[in-house]
Amino acid sequence: MKANVFIVEDEMPIVTLLKYNLEKEGHKVNYALNGEDAIRSIKDQNPDLILLDWMLPDISGIEVCRNLKRINLLKNIPIIMLTAKGEEEDKLKGFKTGADDYVTKPFSQKELIARVNTLLKRAKPNAVEDVVIFEDLKVDRAQKRVF
Ligand code: CA
Repeated sequence: MKANVFIVEDEMPIVTLLKYNLEKEGHKVNYALNGEDAIRSIKDQNPDLILLDWMLPDISGIEVCRNLKRINLLKNIPIIMLTAKGEEEDKLKGFKTGADDYVTKPFSQKELIARVNTLLKRAKPNAVEDVVIFEDLKVDRAQKRVF
């Protein structure tokens, strides 16, 4: 499943690595290096999923998350928080703010991609299958044909 993924992260090497791995999966990737730019771009682009770093140079990832969850059009976009902090208390704070998942740095790219794909499937269950069969009806979305 191809999606628009938005990365909010101030460490360029992490952005580059994530972008490379997500694009390899067929996703389209955009990114911002700070919170203010992120909120602006996310409002414009309405992505399918957001990877959000906790420690940003301007406002924190938590603050970005809180801002996005206040906007009706954007509040259902799944958010995975990325952070170097590992304490339980911080995790809870992240979830309370509305993050859907949580990954502690350093994380494995494979694991993160798996989490991204899981959240995307959960967010858009109908988009997973190209061919849907219902009773004696078969809908092939890829070919745009109904049998
Ligand atoms: Ca950071």
